[in-house]
Amino acid sequence: MQVRQISSCTSPAVWMLPRLTSRRTLLWELYMCDRHDALAAQLTGAHNPVRRGRQPVNREVRCGTLHDHQPIEGALALHGRTWLVLQTLAGTWLEQLTEAAQWQADIDGPDAAALAEIVRVAAAGPDDPAVQVRVLDLLARAETAAVERRWVAQYGQLP
Ligand SMILES: [Zn+2]
Repeated sequence: MQVRQISSCTSPAVWMLPRLTSRRTLLWELYMCDRHDALAAQLTGAHNPVRRGRQPVNREVRCGTLHDHQPIEGALALHGRTWLVLQTLAGTWLEQLTEAAQWQADIDGPDAAALAEIVRVAAAGPDDPAVQVRVLDLLARAETAAVERRWVAQYGQLP
């Protein structure tokens, strides 16, 4: 399970939304405060707030915490909903990641250096579970940095 942080909000979460497959396999759990329930719509691709299925949180978890239980293919697709611009959803996860990194390099984007490093790590052994864990960790760090950068651009400073 990968712990991700998809908001810069420091409020405690009051809701948790789980996402399951049709076979009841847990994909991810998103924690959010009352002000940021739009995060659920962002992850699910919904146009309206997603309230069905969410549960009250009774332990200390920060808003924007995401527990991602998916294999790397699904995790990468979900990064595509939070910060990473994926050029294609075809091909292997490494091909998708490589294309995203190439595009960031082409536009001289703020995530270009981080993504180039992640591709380098990934290419060393894409089928190696230890490499995949490392890639997911690096993606989560890059995601947090990208989310914070966007927050600063929007609000001027971190909370
Ligand atoms: Zn919040």
